[in-house]
Amino acid sequence: MGQMLKREELLKMFEAAGAIRHGHFELSSGLHSGTYVQCALVLQYPRFAEKLGQALAALFSDAKIDAVVSPAMGGLIIGQEVARALPEPKHSSGGGTPALFVERDASGMMALRRGFSLAPDQHVLVVEDVWTTGGSTQEAIRVVEEAGARVVAAGALIDRSGGKVDFEVETQSLIQLPIASYEEEDCPLCREGSVAVKPGSRFVRTAH
Ligand SMILES: [Zn+2]
Repeated sequence: MGQMLKREELLKMFEAAGAIRHGHFELSSGLHSGTYVQCALVLQYPRFAEKLGQALAALFSDAKIDAVVSPAMGGLIIGQEVARALPEPKHSSGGGTPALFVERDASGMMALRRGFSLAPDQHVLVVEDVWTTGGSTQEAIRVVEEAGARVVAAGALIDRSGGKVDFEVETQSLIQLPIASYEEEDCPLCREGSVAVKPGSRFVRTAH
């Protein structure tokens, strides 16, 4: 297991990749914020993804984990990297800790598809990239429990909920970054005279 990275080292990876940006943004919700988070931008780099997976897996070194389950799409890469960093489970196929994912079916419900299955009482860690409300992780937990397995813990790279997520299992995140967002008319950054940019735009320039 990799050495524990300090918060500053973790943030440096996110900022180097533009996955955490500081400035003045209009989020997809229409709200304005001084920070923007897009984990896909850091996870596109395999060596960053591997290090982040090791750091997140290390937070669960006391738990016995047989499988990782992630909600698609955001949880896919980090779920894979966390599973790679975990110790080989008992009754292993030799391929390491399996990383499964749940995705929406035709009716829009999260489900295990593609022949993925969980054994009864298998110990599962649910992994996601970002918690804002934690809704996708909550859905993934329900799917795992309906499959008969047992969720023992939940983890995310970034918790933006301000500590409001509550999954009733051991819960760990690498970075706590509470979201501060405003209606345009209440936005302190607008009041200072700057103009919000949409982070998806290719013309985004980081202000600081
Ligand atoms: Zn604003």
